[in-house]
Amino acid sequence: MPDLTPMMQQYARVKQEHRDAILFFRLGDFYEMFRGDAEEASRLLGLTLTSRQGVPMCGVPYHAAHTYIARLIREGRKVAVCEQTRVPPAGRGLAEREVVEIITPGTATEEDYLEARSNNFIVSIGETRGLMCLAYADLSTGELGLAAAPEAAVFLRDQLARLRPREILVQQSLLEDRVVDSILAEREGVLQNRLPDWEFDLADSHARLRKLLRVANLKAFGIADDAVLPFAAGVLVAYLEESARTVLPHVRSVVVEQDETFVGLDESTVRNLELVANMQDGSRRFTLLEVIDRTRTVMGARMLRRWVLSPLRDVSAIEARQTQVATLYHDQATLSRVREELGRVLDMERLLSRVGMERAHAKDLVAIRTSVSRVRTLWGLLEGHGAGTVAFCTRFAQADRAELDEVLELLERSLLDEPSTLLTEGRLIRDGYDPGLDGLRELRDNSRSILEAYIAEERRQSGVTAMKVRYNKVLGHFIEVTRSQADRVPGHFIRRQTLTNAERFTTERLGEIESAINDAAERIAETERRLFLDVRARVASRLGLLLSIARAVAELDVLQGLAYAATINGYARPVLAEDCRLTIAGGRHPVVEANLPSGSFVPNATSLGPDETFFALITGPNMAGKSTYLRQVALIVILAQIGSYVPADEAEIGLVDRVFCRVGASDNLARGESTFLVEMNEAAYILRAATASSLVIMDEIGRGTSTNDGLAIAQAVSEDLAHRVRCRTLFATHFHELTAMQLPGMANYSLQVADHDGTIVFLKRIEPGPSSTSYGIHVAELAGLPGAVVERAAGILAQLVSAKEGSPSAASPGGEDHWPARPGPSTAGAALETSLFTVEELIAQEIRSLNVDELRPLDALEAIDRWRRELSDS
Ligand code: ADP
Ligand code: MG
Repeated sequence: MPDLTPMMQQYARVKQEHRDAILFFRLGDFYEMFRGDAEEASRLLGLTLTSRQGVPMCGVPYHAAHTYIARLIREGRKVAVCEQTRVPPAGRGLAEREVVEIITPGTATEEDYLEARSNNFIVSIGETRGLMCLAYADLSTGELGLAAAPEAAVFLRDQLARLRPREILVQQSLLEDRVVDSILAEREGVLQNRLPDWEFDLADSHARLRKLLRVANLKAFGIADDAVLPFAAGVLVAYLEESARTVLPHVRSVVVEQDETFVGLDESTVRNLELVANMQDGSRRFTLLEVIDRTRTVMGARMLRRWVLSPLRDVSAIEARQTQVATLYHDQATLSRVREELGRVLDMERLLSRVGMERAHAKDLVAIRTSVSRVRTLWGLLEGHGAGTVAFCTRFAQADRAELDEVLELLERSLLDEPSTLLTEGRLIRDGYDPGLDGLRELRDNSRSILEAYIAEERRQSGVTAMKVRYNKVLGHFIEVTRSQADRVPGHFIRRQTLTNAERFTTERLGEIESAINDAAERIAETERRLFLDVRARVASRLGLLLSIARAVAELDVLQGLAYAATINGYARPVLAEDCRLTIAGGRHPVVEANLPSGSFVPNATSLGPDETFFALITGPNMAGKSTYLRQVALIVILAQIGSYVPADEAEIGLVDRVFCRVGASDNLARGESTFLVEMNEAAYILRAATASSLVIMDEIGRGTSTNDGLAIAQAVSEDLAHRVRCRTLFATHFHELTAMQLPGMANYSLQVADHDGTIVFLKRIEPGPSSTSYGIHVAELAGLPGAVVERAAGILAQLVSAKEGSPSAASPGGEDHWPARPGPSTAGAALETSLFTVEELIAQEIRSLNVDELRPLDALEAIDRWRRELSDS
């Protein structure tokens, strides 16, 4: 590098060691980025790219760096911050620079880098002795868990879809496995760190876990000394400790997840069911989570999100939750008081984690204090009221409560209500907490009276009455004596200045008082810092109990939220069964229902299994309500298995082990794969992973290819599901030919449509039997296709039908008078295929839910602009 300036040589050296991070290189008041980093950052952050001597660069002001870093982290990037650690005197030569902080999506703990209502998981995966091992952690809350399975593909997909990590550590050699590689590649925007195989070591993993959890062996956590399960934990713990640059005392336990714990939900299922993010813009709007999230704390919101992504399979575990929900549901008075108290509980989990990592400042501790005092009230409330089955109180002992009271008392006695967030400026500790601090404050605040007392003493002893203490910037404090009495001052007075009619003196004692006063401010700050650190350490010594209380509060919040959601949405308590039945009366789609005018959703029944019909083939024209119906069944099952009430009049749910939801869509093209290939991959996956206890939802599978291929594949998949897997299946199709299939356990259903004087009315009601006609052209007409085009389409249809009748296809021996009609290129069609709502409906909904009184004009303009864009995109 002959032509590089010394500074660029320095840059190159630093960059060399942080090749996987975007390097923020401090230059004066800016962080500069160069070369590839600059190009990437300018694109991601919308910064202007400039160039100096042919080197691309861009920069951000240092005081605004936080927001830029936050955005890069959100995009799944790693950022290394390089500071000037020593500036040469007189500005000559090169400043020394050093990377002082590395921020990564999965290890960030600062509020700005985190989402309050989601966990921030980092995951590590490695394979050994035929076992795929996974470890996960959320550094911001102290959670840590392990899981393992022999079959990599299904296991990894489910775990990643469930945990939705922001960062992954992966054993290098695993990426040579095509399946693993493609599963990881599916997770866009997730930072991947490839670690050499030798860093994964079983003995080292055991040792690191023991050290982290401060135990002699891991048996208490259900991990035997020779267990292979923790294989991937070592690298994860090392990575976290390294990036946090501290010990992690808030990680208190490790959860071992059995293969059978959770319902398997892969990424497509999570996405297609719009559990936590919608398909339009990926936000929480119009999702299951949004409808049922009535939590009052962010801890509860996080836990609920996790529950939704991890429904349970064990009937007694589900019932334990359900019973608590029911208790609160039936005691609305307690429910509303619980909600009120929870409303003032802050994010104790993350606050306490900051205490553990020695990052908490005084406002954090005050927030803990506020929360703990609410928790105390809640505790009393639940003990006193009828809510006896709510596990919150029974989980803790009297001794725990005494300990909690001690912490609360300490925090109340020690901390100011509005303390400083800095540790170095004072304004942390209350008066009366520490006598030493009180003395110093007295000195600072009462300097005037201390000086007055001193001068009064001098007056009395010397008999000089015309003497007073004064102050100016040059001399500081001094004693001024009028000229007439100046020659009578005592010998220890030292002359400082002579004026026309006065003399100014100082004394040794005055000097002492003065410096004590000057020191006081500094000593106050120092004392407050010391006292604060002591308080924080004492809270940290109770971290174990406080964190488990925080988690119990989160759980209480989720349970009360479910009880409240059930109340306001009119849900019913489902009956759980351990066979393959699925009986729903008056079932509704929770999200569609919530976004339609009240009472306008048409409820529908479902009856599948256990022994008779388990395969429902559902036909009906576009817009009839097929997709909604299919998904509502899956959502009801998922709600039941997280322990919630369900949107139905009655429901009997035979527990499922996995849910698959596939939508034959054309929007996968965006991911660069052919739709057909994607559909086939996914169908293959279902056929491999589904068991007799699974629930399979197929919505218009086979649409991504020419009609005959699609039809053939849809039929073959149906046959395999019905003959071999024999799981509960709902299969919506526009291939009318499929209604003629004779499969074991199969029954035809259709969504009813009425024809009123040539206008179609979708009744949204499901009835046994195949649909009689597909109404595609009528739908096109409704969607606004010009009259002439509609007429022409009717003519073509007639021709097609007669041509088809002439040469019956193998797949439809019945040769019915239907052609898989699709609506024309209607405006509504495109959006309907990917979401249950049209763009217009979504926007109308958003407008209805706006709080106009609180809307700022700028936000309104932005919203209008966005709507306009959404409308023109659709
Ligand atoms: P399909 O899949 O048959 O084309 P969709 O399920 O997409 O039909 O539903 C079409 C429209 O009807 C959607 O806008 C949806 O909100 C509405 N809808 C569906 N089912 C119902 C129902 N049971 N009650 C009221 N509206 C419904
Ligand atoms: Mg549909």
